[in-house]
Amino acid sequence: MRAHRPLTCRLNLHHRWRTNHTEDGGRYLRCARCGKDHVPNPSAVTPVM
Ligand SMILES: [Zn+2]
Repeated sequence: MRAHRPLTCRLNLHHRWRTNHTEDGGRYLRCARCGKDHVPNPSAVTPVM
């Protein structure tokens, strides 16, 4: 069951990145709205207009 994601998340236009901590003390970013993990170097970059 997936939660409804905002349009900006579905289009990968904007995410609300929140800092999370892993069990081993690492840090990573995850969208607070859709749960997507932040990718430092995404292969598919959204064109900026
Ligand atoms: Zn998102």
